[in-house]
Amino acid sequence: MQSEKPPIMWLPVTVFLFTTIVTVIGVPWYGYAVGYSGAMWLAAILVLGANGMSITAGYHRLWAHNSYRAHWSLRLLFALFGAAATQNSILVWASGHRRHHRHVDDNERDPYSAKRGFFFSHIGWMLRAYPSGKVDFSNVKDLQRDPIVVWQHKHYVVLAIAMNFIPALALGWLLGDIVAGALLIGFLRLVVSHHTTFFINSLAHIWGRRPYTEANTARDNDVLAFFTYGEGYHNYHHLFQGDYRNGVKWWQYDPTKWLIFVASKLGLASKLKRTPAAKINQAMIETQLKRAEETFKSKPLSLRFSDQIALESMRFQQQLQHWKELRLSWVEAQKELMEQRGEELRSMAETELLVISEKLAALEFEIKQQRKRMIRFVNRLAAC
Ligand SMILES: [Zn+2]
Ligand SMILES: [Zn+2]
Repeated sequence: MQSEKPPIMWLPVTVFLFTTIVTVIGVPWYGYAVGYSGAMWLAAILVLGANGMSITAGYHRLWAHNSYRAHWSLRLLFALFGAAATQNSILVWASGHRRHHRHVDDNERDPYSAKRGFFFSHIGWMLRAYPSGKVDFSNVKDLQRDPIVVWQHKHYVVLAIAMNFIPALALGWLLGDIVAGALLIGFLRLVVSHHTTFFINSLAHIWGRRPYTEANTARDNDVLAFFTYGEGYHNYHHLFQGDYRNGVKWWQYDPTKWLIFVASKLGLASKLKRTPAAKINQAMIETQLKRAEETFKSKPLSLRFSDQIALESMRFQQQLQHWKELRLSWVEAQKELMEQRGEELRSMAETELLVISEKLAALEFEIKQQRKRMIRFVNRLAAC
């Protein structure tokens, strides 16, 4: 336990206090006295979206996790609109975030450990000079090779001020009300943008389900995903941080994933990393198996269930082993196809690859069914 609290960081404290006070008092007051046009609201939402997605698709998935490659023009946009989100430079942000993933829930080393409570993980960690938040760039050496990242870091303060003031005042002027522009596009937009990102460090580690892993506090939450451009699928993200997707199911709301995908179709993004479906199912099955074992231990259930857990576990281990072997031969077959030059040899290699692919797809379907069966089984156990 620390006996003395670390010193207060007055710059962030002032920025948070000032923007919050103006937003809470100034925005409703002006709305009541003068009013805001629909166009002004729309402009504020668009600028908010540009800031938010620059953090999610840029700062987070591109720079902190290298989950894809982006063209310089896209990186420049992310660097500019990300600066407007006023969450420090890409370099500082990504370094802290990589430490968060590496030491998640460790109160000493995770800069915004959720185990230190809601307030600390939401905003408290930025208000005092916590040693865990100390900037150490040794884990972002790769980013120091990106000239846009280096440039943004060097001019961060000027860029943050310019990108906060210029769009707000210019759009306000264009739409005929500079004060309304400053209030909605300047202040309100910044406060909302701040807290939606901060919710990922606080609420997304407290509220929601854990389908992929229970090894850390990260949660999947559809409501949060809606407000954070898809970042609410945080349980998935903590396990598969290299994946450019956070909401991996087709029905999950992840506009950041869609933006990156569309950018790849336009030639602005490449090398999108995806976790193979069988690996995702494996994580889910293992989590269900663990849950089944824990429920069995904590409840006086009949031995019949214990046998069933062992059986399901064995069945899954066999499927997993088979999947690993098939996947290996699939990789080999693909390599072989690339190496074949002659027409006839190529077509033979193609047929082989097709056969393995079909087997792999069938097995992946089986694993998916196994996952569904496990979920039903655990629910039945819990209801006993
Ligand atoms: Zn997290
Ligand atoms: Zn992350």
